[in-house]
Formats: sequence, C-alpha cells, structure tokens
Amino acid sequence: MEEIELRRIKDEVPHSILKHRDIRADVLRLDLIDPLVSGNKWYKLKNHLNEAASRQLKTIVTFGGAYSNHIVATAAACRMKGFRSIGIIRGEAAKQLSPSLSLAGKHGMELIYISREAYKRKEVPNALIMEPYYLIPEGGYGSIGMEGAKDILALDTQSYTHIITPVGTGTTIAGLIEASLKEQHVIGISALKNNHALQEDINYLLSPGNKNRFTLEHNYHFGGYAKKTNELIDFMNEWFAATGLRSDFVYTGKMFYAFRSLCEQSFFSPASNILLIHTGGLQGNMSLPKGTLIF
Ligand SMILES: *Cc1c(COP(=O)(O)O)cnc(C)c1O
Repeated sequence: MEEIELRRIKDEVPHSILKHRDIRADVLRLDLIDPLVSGNKWYKLKNHLNEAASRQLKTIVTFGGAYSNHIVATAAACRMKGFRSIGIIRGEAAKQLSPSLSLAGKHGMELIYISREAYKRKEVPNALIMEPYYLIPEGGYGSIGMEGAKDILALDTQSYTHIITPVGTGTTIAGLIEASLKEQHVIGISALKNNHALQEDINYLLSPGNKNRFTLEHNYHFGGYAKKTNELIDFMNEWFAATGLRSDFVYTGKMFYAFRSLCEQSFFSPASNILLIHTGGLQGNMSLPKGTLIF
C-alpha cells in the first residue's frame, strides 16, 4: 500500500458552475491514485489484501459483472501485491470480452464463469480452485472495505460543510460518513435505478450514532447502472471543457451532473463549502465508441 503514493490533489470548481458567489467546491482527485486501482477501489481493497497476507493466503477470489471496476481494480492490486487473483463472473463468456474483463485478464486475473443462478447464490466453484483462498465480497461491499474508505478523509477536510460521492454498494459512503464530523452533510448519488435497499445496506455498516446521517439522491441514474443518455454524455464533455475534469459515465459523470443540478436548484445555502469525491473509474469509458467523449 505504501508504494501507491496518494496524490490527494484538490481542484477548485470554477465559479461559473456554482451559480452563487458565496459557495465554493473542491474535487478530491482519487482518480489520480492509479489508472486501474482507481479511486475508491484502492481504499476498499487495501485492508482485505493486508488481511489475506496476514493469514498467509496467496489467492484472492472475488465476484463481479462484465463491467465491474471492482474486478479490474482487484486484478491490478493483486498483481501489484503478488497475489494470484480469480474473478467469478456472472453468465457465459462472451465471444468478445468486455474491456473491463480483458483488462483484468491482462493483469493476470483468471476468470471463471458461472450461471446467473449460481452467481445469485454467490457460489464459489470450489472444485476449480485447488488451494486456500481469501474471498472479497461482490463489489467489495462490507465493513472491511468501509474501514479502508474512512482513510479517504484522512487529510484536511474538516472545513467542508458537504461531502458528495457517487454510490454503488454503499461501502465508500459508509466510510465517509463514519470519518466525517457530525455537522458535515454527506450526500450520495446512487448510480443504480430504484435501489431502495441502499439506505439499509449503508445503515447496516454504520455505527449506531451514524445511522441515517446521510442523504441519498436517487434521481440521477440516467436509466440505471452503467446506462447512459446523450444528455449525460453531452454534460460530461461540457464539464470537461469547463473544469478540465474527466469523468466516467457509470459513476462520476452522474455525480457531477447531480451536483450541477443541485447548484441550479439553490440546494446549497450561502457559505457552503463542498467537497466532491472523484472516485475514479475512468477506465470504464473504454466501452464507449471512439469519439463519444472529447477527452
Ligand atoms: C465502485 C465505484 C463506486 C461505488 O463505490 P461503492 O463503495 O460500491 O459505493 C463509485 N465510483 C466509482 C468510480 C467506482 O468504481
């Protein structure tokens, strides 16, 4: 973990976007940590890999779908740390591997495909894995990942009134909530459509005093997980032109869009000082046709 230098650069969002003179916003650039073990994924994985090492397990097994950033990040982190990695993938092997799976394969991950039914039950095909292994839950959800995500705020973030992050499983936002001050508002932008279990999934990870101490926005999914519209793509290009910030269409593009929309609705009171977490995930844009994005 030491060799990944955390360049926790904060970029200020230009005032033209904020619409109000008296609020300001910074972006915490976790996307700069590493192109593949990107953003929040490193924080979610690091304690798992430490635990596996301390139990002297040399093989990491995890679950994911064909477009999972978690799969790519696990593959790359395992290679970096000298683990064998096995990804259990939902469904049949496609003739043409998705960019994420092919990237994971390039980083040494062995891919095992199981049926949708077996995947639902999270069945590890033990007959195919001949040695002891350490299992990381699907998408890195859980309290071990959350513990690691607390470190995202382990820098000078106390003056922020709001902390905004994209949300998938809820593990990262749970870490942010645990690490934030009681008076800070933590806002999550869900990347999934109608994920009504999310509030409970997050509460499950939180300590008693922190339960429900956060707000979720469910209206910025653009059709659902990994779905997109022209409006989202146009926004991501405009956002890049205005701020120089690249975003991905699964998570961070939707968060920045939501943020701009909240600004337009005068959601933030005067003197708000907002921290946006850029959780990375830019490699996911590889599945877009060439020329879709201007960056
Ligand atoms: C995985 C991911 C998330 C979601 O993180 P959770 O801890 O699952 O909520 C957000 N942003 C990016 C870029 C991701 O890859």
